[in-house]
Amino acid sequence: MKVQNMTGRTGGKVANQFIIDADNGDIYFQSYRTIIAKKSQSKIYLDINWDYSATTGKYRNQFLHENKAETERSPADWSLQWLWNQPQVSLVLSGMSALDQVQENLTSAGKSGIGSLTENDLQLVSHVKETYQDMALIPCTRCNYCLPCPEGVDIPRILKIYNDGIMYDKVETSKTDYNLWVPADAKGDNCVVCRECEEQCPQDIPISDWMAQIHKEYAG
Ligand code: SF4
Ligand code: SF4
Repeated sequence: MKVQNMTGRTGGKVANQFIIDADNGDIYFQSYRTIIAKKSQSKIYLDINWDYSATTGKYRNQFLHENKAETERSPADWSLQWLWNQPQVSLVLSGMSALDQVQENLTSAGKSGIGSLTENDLQLVSHVKETYQDMALIPCTRCNYCLPCPEGVDIPRILKIYNDGIMYDKVETSKTDYNLWVPADAKGDNCVVCRECEEQCPQDIPISDWMAQIHKEYAG
């Protein structure tokens, strides 16, 4: 392990701000007595107190090669940047209801572009996506192998609506989605428990049980 002080503009050592090179290749930024950030295998990890002082912020920015706004991107900024990063996307329409949202989106647009998200950014997005998926109650991957249901039940859609309610802690919104957007002839109560879908499901999901349970919980 190698510990070095960070350097200032003139190349002099800065007290209490350190770069630590670990034997396994990980690199840490320590400010005073706290490890603020770690770079490991192209991923960046931040301590919960990553922004606790101006001095820490200054040298954290230097360590990460980005400014605070880039480090603390809002969810809206992350979403817009992800869309603008796609070569297939030429226009993004964003709903805004307040002037500060307009300003935030303009700032976001000003730094957008295809390929502007770094490998680290994309890995973080993937990591967040996997974390949310791990929170799903029903391990449906939306492969659609269970379709078509002979009774017309929209199995993947119903499972997604239910999982979203659990993952995002928005059960009431999910209920509304189920009642509003799943047509009556595609709802779970149309299931006749033939189990054809279950034979096709690579995740071995007891689909007919879920159709009955979800409809019981959500309908009405
Ligand atoms: S068990 Fe229910 S959901 Fe599955 S195919 Fe049969 S009717 Fe459709
Ligand atoms: S086959 Fe299984 S995993 Fe695939 S969409 Fe249907 S329920 Fe989900």
